[in-house]
Amino acid sequence: MSARLSLRRGACPSLPEPMQTGDGLLARLQPLAPLSLDQLAGLARLAVERGNGVLEVTARGKLQLRGLTPATAPGLPEAVAALGIEVPQGFPVEVSALAGRDPLQRVDPRPLTRAISDGAAPLVPHLAPKASVVVDGGGLFRLGGLKADIAVSAGERGLSLALAGTPLGEVTPHQAAAVVIALLQRLAVRGPAARMAELVAAEGMESLRAEFGLAPPVAASGEGVDPVGLHRLSDGSVALGIGLAFGQIRAAVLDELVAAARRAGVAHAEPAAGRALLLVGLAPEAAPALREAAAGLDLLTDPEDPRRRVYACAGQPACASAQLDTHELAATLVPLLGGRDLHVSGCPKGCAHPAKAALTIVGLDEGAGLVVEGTPRAMPARLVPVAQLREAVQELLQKDLA
Ligand code: SF4
Repeated sequence: MSARLSLRRGACPSLPEPMQTGDGLLARLQPLAPLSLDQLAGLARLAVERGNGVLEVTARGKLQLRGLTPATAPGLPEAVAALGIEVPQGFPVEVSALAGRDPLQRVDPRPLTRAISDGAAPLVPHLAPKASVVVDGGGLFRLGGLKADIAVSAGERGLSLALAGTPLGEVTPHQAAAVVIALLQRLAVRGPAARMAELVAAEGMESLRAEFGLAPPVAASGEGVDPVGLHRLSDGSVALGIGLAFGQIRAAVLDELVAAARRAGVAHAEPAAGRALLLVGLAPEAAPALREAAAGLDLLTDPEDPRRRVYACAGQPACASAQLDTHELAATLVPLLGGRDLHVSGCPKGCAHPAKAALTIVGLDEGAGLVVEGTPRAMPARLVPVAQLREAVQELLQKDLA
């Protein structure tokens, strides 16, 4: 099978349609089920055999393989399938990590996720490639921070619907799938580039709420916890969340992590929103040694690790649009942050972090922009030559942001 290059405007990279980046082709997958350790090791092997050995977990909890080539990308979907890893065939609904096993979940999001995915499958060719639906079971790990055309969240009083980040109303579990599919149909009618914000602007929340017979929205219910660290599950076992600095892990490090996970008796692994990998099903007494082993591999095992507050996109040389070596720069600035969050973006697109950060450094044609409490698209407070960036940032962190 030949890989088709993803050149459609706004398209998302996938296994059959990887995307061209500065370090080769990038393929993304969203496994349908938790991964066995053999499957995780298999992905590490594929990253070396077909890519540049770098795997990523994105802010939305998707897995990525980087550095594929036109010679190695074809056949990747089959190679992933040969590992027994299934990916969604219908509309790709995003679901909170530990779905069905989260000790705090109010609703098992999997049946609703399946119903939406299957019901919306015929709409896929008529929807924007980035049209998104998330289903959040209301447990430990929430998806409320993710941008989504439609978000379904379980709260104290049932299921809440939000459109393009704005609450729409409350739905019963019985009507949720039908309402979401009807909203996607409405979106599809507007054309393959339409997003929910436009639909809401055109039709109005009140009118949509009345049309679908929804109760008015209630206040949002909690934000969940950082997946990094130890989490006790309802069956008495433990999940260890591993954070990946800049969302990346090298295949050789992943191999070592898998070996340590085997020794510790981990049952399976799951990528989680927030650039993390959950190792699930540990006996509580085995968790500290695994956490220590992961920390020894320079992986993030403490949610208070200052690197959890640093966001950096692929940057140079991995992205052709980048004006900065984002990872190298961010790594050198971590010791100066003092608990503040930092976003280093190779260009104004801001792929790594759509929200504001205490300090954002953005690569521009004319140099590096320093944005305080803003996003990479905001007007920089200062513009400095890249060669003087480190000193300028140090000065800003020590004075202006003190
Ligand atoms: S923010 Fe710009 S430089 Fe960074 S990955 Fe996105 S497009 Fe590339």
